[in-house]
Parts: sequence; C-alpha cells; structure tokens
Amino acid sequence: MSISVWDYLPEYENEREEILEAVDTVFRSGQLVLGKSVRGFEREFADYHGLPHCVGVDNGTNAVKLALEAVGVGPGDEVITVSNTAAPTVLAIDSAGATPVFVDVRRDDYLMNVDQVAAAITPRTKALLPVHLYGQCVDMTPLHTLAAEHGLAVVEDCAQAHGATQRGQLAGTFGDTAAFSFYPTKVLGAYGDGGAVVTPNQKTAEELRKLRYYGMRDVYYVVRTPGHNSRLDEVHAEILRRKLRRLDDYVAGRRTVAARYAEALGDTELELPKVNDGNEHVYYVYVVRHPDRDRIISELANHGIKLNISYPWPVHTMTGFAHLGYERGSLPVTEELADQIFSLPMYPSLDLDRQHRVIDAVRQVLGVDRAGMAVAREGA
Ligand SMILES: *Cc1c(COP(=O)(O)O)cnc(C)c1O
Repeated sequence: MSISVWDYLPEYENEREEILEAVDTVFRSGQLVLGKSVRGFEREFADYHGLPHCVGVDNGTNAVKLALEAVGVGPGDEVITVSNTAAPTVLAIDSAGATPVFVDVRRDDYLMNVDQVAAAITPRTKALLPVHLYGQCVDMTPLHTLAAEHGLAVVEDCAQAHGATQRGQLAGTFGDTAAFSFYPTKVLGAYGDGGAVVTPNQKTAEELRKLRYYGMRDVYYVVRTPGHNSRLDEVHAEILRRKLRRLDDYVAGRRTVAARYAEALGDTELELPKVNDGNEHVYYVYVVRHPDRDRIISELANHGIKLNISYPWPVHTMTGFAHLGYERGSLPVTEELADQIFSLPMYPSLDLDRQHRVIDAVRQVLGVDRAGMAVAREGA
C-alpha cells in the first residue's frame, strides 16, 4: 500500500456520521445560500480568533483578493509579498488589479525576509502581504512598524496557518484583514472549496460582505460598487463548524507527527523545518531540504511513498507572470530552495505504522539505518 503526502479518507471514516449529519442539516434548513450555517460558522471562526468579524467566501484565492480589495487595493497599487508561495497568493494580487512586488525568503525558515521589505516600498505600495507559509508565522513586529511608518495595510495570507501562533497570538489577528482557505488539504479543510476573511474592523467587514455579494448590500438588485459572487457555500460552512471544534486536535496531531519526524530524522543529512523563537508551527506541510532532492523523491516512490513539493517553481519564474519582469537570479534564495525542498507525508490521521514506514524508507534512501549506521544505498 502506498503512502501519499495527504489523504482525507481516514479522517472521513472517523467523522463520517458528523459530516453527513451536517449535510442533512443544510439540506433540510430551507435556505441553501447565505443562511444559518454560514452565519454560524462566521461567528464561530471569528470567536476562535477573538475577532469581531469573519466573512465566509468561496475559496482562499478569492479570500486573498477580497482581503486586498476591502482595504482599498486596486489598479495602480503595489503589494509586497514573496515568490516562495502558492501561486494563488500572487494571482489574487493580480486579479485585484494590483502589481505584486517580491522580496526574497530567508535561508533558514523559507519565510518572507522582512529585512528586504523596506527597500521594496515605493510611493505606489499599498499593502504588505506576508504569507505564513507551511504553517509558521512571518515575523510580524517589523512589518507592523513599516506599515505604520508608511501608512500601508497589512493583509495576511493564512491559507496554511490555521491555529498557528506567534508569541501566543493567532495567525489572522495581526493584519487589517487576513485570508483563509478551507481547500480540503488545509489544516482546516472543507469537503470542497471554501475560504474566509477575518478583520477587526467593522467598515472593512461591511465592505467584504458587499464584495462577496455582487457589490450589493441590504437591498437585493442594487449594486453599490461592482463586486463578485464569492459566497461560502452553506454545506461547507456547516461541515466547517463541526471541524472547527476539532481544529486544535488536528493541529496537535500534526505536531505529533512532526515531532516524530524530527526525532527520527534529526541525525540525517536532511534539513528539517526550523521553528523560530516565539512561533508555534502547525505543519500544514512538513518541508525538508536536501541537495539531492530529485533522486530522493524517485527512490522513495519505489518504496511506495509519494511525495510532493511546495513549491517546485517559484512564482516569479512562471510564464504566466513573465509580465512582472523578474529575471532568473533575482530572488536567489527562493530559486535555490525550489530545487531542494520536498514535503514528507503529513496529516493528523497519518497512523504510526505509516509514519514508521516513511521514516524507515527515508533513512534507507539517505543511506543511514535506524541505529545511525551507514548502509548501502539502493542501486549503489
Ligand atoms: C491554498 C492557498 C491559497 C489558495 O486557496 P484556494 O482555496 O485553493 O483558492 C492561497 N495562498 C496560499 C498560501 C495557499 O496555500
């Protein structure tokens, strides 16, 4: 039996009755769009973050887009972010009509190099968009200082960071707005697409509600300013309400798997995730680094272990973003990482047996046995 980097089926088997009950609740509610379930989830997700407002939307990409638009980002504006991210981060900036401006990431934690942000600010800069990549928060204190100095909005991309904290403060509570994805693989995942934006600000929340609903407010048919159809679905909202109660358990499960990997692979040549002081990581993905990445991945595939790379192509090198004008070599750390990182299987219901199979196979492929002794490499 092969092991993949992510699998929702064991979790579905555990939670099946609850999920089906959620679906039935919605189907019998008499209101299939923007009803009780979306309202309930919004209240509960806001409460989880200790914030007054949450607006459910259709997916994480549009969550980022609306989070930007709601703070006034539009055509002609620049938004500073990273290229080492999921392409949707950058697509969202692009579809808000703004221009993404990239800074490099740091060599040790692969997150936004906040030291480079000041130099990237221009008179057109409107917002800073830190991505709490892989499940760990970007250093928020220096970003807040810069934002205050230059009058910029801070919009967090929290698509990978549900439940992550920095000095005890939850991801999503640092910014003017913060965007979440509930794509099934995420730390809090729906059974399909979903997203949300949280904000401490009442006016911003009203703007978000308008933006996701064609640009209409209370009176149906009257567009105030052109918006979108970006509503969170009732079914996913009701499922997410059930799953939100387990979010802390999901995170704990991920941390247990991560701790086992760290313990069992710490003496190998693999570079393991670095968790910064004050941060609590939620391990959306468990990203490791090795210069011989491609060989390792293909040999692990022979052991039935299918890995993934987050992400193999930096966004600024993609043909779809050639118009941004970034040359190869312009973000050296990001580019180097993309050739060396890969992700080990990570999800809360990954059982012990599978964890050990992953560990044993990785050690074998790296040429070290369980006791740390060198063993013959396969094919060597
Ligand atoms: C998944 C993800 C998104 C996009 O979310 P979707 O729900 O897939 O649209 C945006 N940013 C990051 C960092 C992501 O990981």
